[in-house]
Formats: sequence, structure tokens, C-alpha cells
Amino acid sequence: MKIICIGRNYKDHAKELKNEVPKEPVFFLKPDTALLPKRTPFYIPNFTKDLHHEIELVVKINKLGKNISKKYAHTYYNEIGLGIDFTARDVQQECKAKGLPWEKAKSFDYSAPLSETFIQKSELGNLNNISFSLLKNKQTVQNGNSSDMLFDIDAIIEYISKFITLKIGDLIFTGTPAGVSAVSIGDHLEGFIGDIKMLDLKIK
Ligand code: MG
Repeated sequence: MKIICIGRNYKDHAKELKNEVPKEPVFFLKPDTALLPKRTPFYIPNFTKDLHHEIELVVKINKLGKNISKKYAHTYYNEIGLGIDFTARDVQQECKAKGLPWEKAKSFDYSAPLSETFIQKSELGNLNNISFSLLKNKQTVQNGNSSDMLFDIDAIIEYISKFITLKIGDLIFTGTPAGVSAVSIGDHLEGFIGDIKMLDLKIK
């Protein structure tokens, strides 16, 4: 399986990093080794001094597809989960400044903690109105709603599948809202979809 992540999918987040608001989805990949084993703490890697949390809704693909049109995209997933796209912001800025790919800032081991459970689409109702949040040490630091996505889930699937075949079990991280910030050793992160707790992570 592969993990495909959308960047700059929320205007407020693009602005907080002083990035242009994109006209087409921006995506990058993380390898399967980016998944964090269940109930494992997250250890800050030693190559970064500015590791940021990015809370994101995650779509799990349940059907093989290529060149999927937006109209049929909804038949390629049934479940939505929650994940963190950990980003070594200092490493990423350095790569961006040199015009290089920022893979190493995004795709390192365990950089994609994921909720153990996923929620059925049918239980979520309107997929363009899913609220989600991240708490750091019991304070809300990120608050998002899928209604603020620049490209909705179906548009993302249409776009990605022009370039890459989607397979059963592939995960799509759909982008983060504003409020990204650095994590420190000892922090406690909790992620919610609505008021359902999806993620609980200790930073070591
Ligand atoms: Mg992200």
C-alpha cells in the first residue's frame, strides 16, 4: 500500500506557511514504513529541531482504479479516518529554499500516525461538512472542517488517479487546516473527528 498526501488543501494553512493557494491539488507520497505501529509512542527524530503536527482526514481506498472521474470517485472509498502528517519543517524549508523535493522532511519512518479505527461514510453524513481537531496537552491547536478544503475528496481522487493507480488499502491524507506548530518531548496529542476520539499519541 502507499500513502498519498495532499498539500496546501486549506487556504488558511497555505497562508500561514506563506505558500500560494494552489490551482490544482499538490500531492506527495509517504512509504508504508511511515505508518506508526499501533499503541506506540512517537519519538522525535534527531535530524529535526522543528517537527510540526498536521492533523488530517484520511481516506481509505477500497477499490482498484485509474483515471477515475469525479462522478464515480465516491465508489472508491467507504471509510474516513484521522492521521498526522508529521513534518520536519526546518528540513522542508531547507529543501524548498534549494528548489529540491521535500520528501525527507515528510516521508521518514513513523511520520504518519493513523487512527486505529475508521468511520463509515454513511455514519458521517455530509462528507463536505466533517469537523476535526487536534488537541495538544488538552488545548485545541487545530480545528478543521472538510467544507474548507480547496479540493474535496472526490476531486482529489480524480486528480491523483490521472497519474497513479489507486489500490485497495491505499491511504489519502487530505491536507491540514491552519494551526500547525512544533511538538516537544512530553507532549500529548489527541485527535478528534467531531467529538469521537480517534488518535492518542505521546511524544517522546
Ligand atoms: Mg500535510
